[in-house]
Amino acid sequence: MSVGKIRYDWHKEEILAIYNTPLLELIYQAASVHRQYHDPKQIQVCKLISIKTGGCPEDCGYCAQSSRYKTEVKPEALLEKATVLNIAKKAKETGVSRVCMGAAWREVRDNSQFEQVLDMVKDVTSMGLEVCCTLGMLTGDQAKRLENAGLYAYNHNLDTSEEYYSTVITTRTYSDRLNTIENVRQTNVTVCSGGILGLGETVEDRVGMLYTLSNLQPHPESVPINILSQVPGTPLENQPEVPIWDVVRMIATARIIMPSADVRLSAGRAKLTQVEQAFCFMAGANSIFSSDDHKMLTVTTPCPDYDADAEMLNLLGLEMRPPFQKTLAVG
Ligand code: SAM
Ligand code: SF4
Repeated sequence: MSVGKIRYDWHKEEILAIYNTPLLELIYQAASVHRQYHDPKQIQVCKLISIKTGGCPEDCGYCAQSSRYKTEVKPEALLEKATVLNIAKKAKETGVSRVCMGAAWREVRDNSQFEQVLDMVKDVTSMGLEVCCTLGMLTGDQAKRLENAGLYAYNHNLDTSEEYYSTVITTRTYSDRLNTIENVRQTNVTVCSGGILGLGETVEDRVGMLYTLSNLQPHPESVPINILSQVPGTPLENQPEVPIWDVVRMIATARIIMPSADVRLSAGRAKLTQVEQAFCFMAGANSIFSSDDHKMLTVTTPCPDYDADAEMLNLLGLEMRPPFQKTLAVG
């Protein structure tokens, strides 16, 4: 294996072989690649703001916000800009450098709500923060408008392999997903795309998702790795826990095949101990989501708080990365 070179022609067999490398060797290789492209002391801390919660028409089998399932989440209106700015300000004061604004929408519509989101993007960006949006499907024109508002990143997860996708979601296709990613790529907005572990997928599905991501040219600048939060009322409520070593293998494999990407340990981190998180950082994860209200996506996806995270980073000798800092100019 040629470690550390940026390639867009990874084969599934190669990715599977990396994933199945003896664990400590895999972590060592991933840690080595990590050091070629990133300052290993730095972790980017992000804050997710659910600007429009619940009532989503899509049927994503894991999601608390789908209107098709009876979950604890009650549909809410779009947040006021002042509320969003307040949350962003507080987050910035604690060292957060990226704010991700999520909406439970199937797709963006060209209406006044989109205008309000564009306005939020402008104002949060002018606070000196990286702004990411995750609003569902986008047309090329909408991507351009987000770019003009100053958006730094757009999140649109593939979630799993092309083969397994329709088992989890039936209201859109894998190619719909790839289309939106392509529309974002046509602008200067960076791409954030990753997936979830624990949907009942096989190792081949995990590899399949990484295969699709690593064959995008350029690679997504950001790859979130979520661990399923089993939400009562959803079809995936009874899925078993993902073994920690699967999480570490997934992070390490993503790190090796997409060396310059930020690999984000995202949903489900609250389930992990400090030692387990330390292994994830060793394997190349260089970003976390933190919160002051213990919530991440919705009330049902818990998230560790700022103080506990600051304490953990301090203990591990890690520091928070400032906004807009690129990867090391090597490789
Ligand atoms: N509606 C938009 C979309 O689907 O692109 C954005 C919001 S959605 C909450 C963003 C991502 O959160 C999903 O793609 C999925 O990876 C993750 N997610 C949602 N519910 C989750 C859960 N219960 N456990 C883990 N990850 C979850
Ligand atoms: Fe809607 Fe996004 Fe949840 Fe799917 S993941 S149901 S698109 S909010």
